[in-house]
Amino acid sequence: MAKKGEQRIVIHLACTQCQERTYTSAKNKKNDSQRLELKKFCPRCRTHTAHRETK
Ligand SMILES: [Zn+2]
Repeated sequence: MAKKGEQRIVIHLACTQCQERTYTSAKNKKNDSQRLELKKFCPRCRTHTAHRETK
């Protein structure tokens, strides 16, 4: 369970090509105040695309 003082928030990772929300993740608000962008496999595009953080 979440530790005291931890600032991890749940985020969704959406494909920048088709806007499909393929992944969910958690990040530390303090460490990553900006939007995350990761290369992930998108089953809709059937290839690796950039996925951007959404709420
Ligand atoms: Zn896609």
